[in-house]
Amino acid sequence: MRIVACFKATPDDADIIVGSGRSLDFTRAQPKVGSYDLNAIEAARRLADQVGGEVIGLTVGGDELANTKLRKDALSRGLDSLVIVAGGPGADSYQTACALAAALGELGGYDLVILGAGSSDRYAQQVGNQLGALLGLPTLNQVNSIAVDGERVRVERLLEDAEQVIELALPAVVSVTSGINVPRIAGMKDILAAGKKPVTEQPATLPAASTRLVSLLAPEQVDRRRVTVEGAPADTAAQLATFLKSL
Ligand SMILES: Cc1cc2nc3c(=O)[nH]c(=O)nc-3n(C[C@H](O)[C@H](O)[C@H](O)COP(=O)(O)OP(=O)(O)OC[C@H]3O[C@@H](n4cnc5c(N)ncnc54)[C@H](O)[C@@H]3O)c2cc1C
Repeated sequence: MRIVACFKATPDDADIIVGSGRSLDFTRAQPKVGSYDLNAIEAARRLADQVGGEVIGLTVGGDELANTKLRKDALSRGLDSLVIVAGGPGADSYQTACALAAALGELGGYDLVILGAGSSDRYAQQVGNQLGALLGLPTLNQVNSIAVDGERVRVERLLEDAEQVIELALPAVVSVTSGINVPRIAGMKDILAAGKKPVTEQPATLPAASTRLVSLLAPEQVDRRRVTVEGAPADTAAQLATFLKSL
């Protein structure tokens, strides 16, 4: 089985600095594999190990994809190879989906495309469904488990008040939840092996942008009121209720 795991390189949020006027400074933030995309890579690896096959990592983006540490990190998480599609700076969800669709078309066949629930910076949750529509393939999001049964994939979708079980014909596109698995932490052996895995680079093919990012600011900070309610349970409950009503 040929499984493609799509991941986005996102800036490490621990090193994003909030400046005056809620501006964001990304200069120190190194690119890392998006947190939710680690679940996509892990799901792909586990499935390939169960049924046999290979896992190809696919990412599109800008200059951040030249980062060797990022490449090694992605490859050490269970990918067999990596396809990097690099273009100019910035792209919206639809352009990204188009670039992914074009790259998938050049892979020479695949059975399943797995994406994360959302990118860990913008979290638009758009790319998976847009990609499925562009490819004209069965597409599902909120996927909480995947099992292969012959030519079909059986997935469970975790909804707010129900759990759906759905069979999909292959090839298909699925976006997995962050609860589908616990991503592995790569060991030294995995990190060393990552440096020897094949990496292919190709230019991005993008349509014109259909959206424009107008501004990107840190959310407003609200000072905590530091109100402490003390006393016997019945008194504190009454005090808390009075306080909440006063808000
Ligand atoms: C040519 C080009 C240049 C880019 N340059 C930059 C840049 O300079 N800086 C920057 O931060 N971003 C860059 N990007 C990334 C791009 O901005 C985002 O990937 C895009 O906006 C999707 O984000 P989203 O929040 O809509 O994803 P969502 O819809 O929230 O993502 C859902 C899932 O789709 C998959 N996915 C999302 N984005 C990608 C991706 N890029 N590659 C593979 N899988 C993906 C992941 O599995 C993710 O979990 C570039 C993209 C392209 C095509």
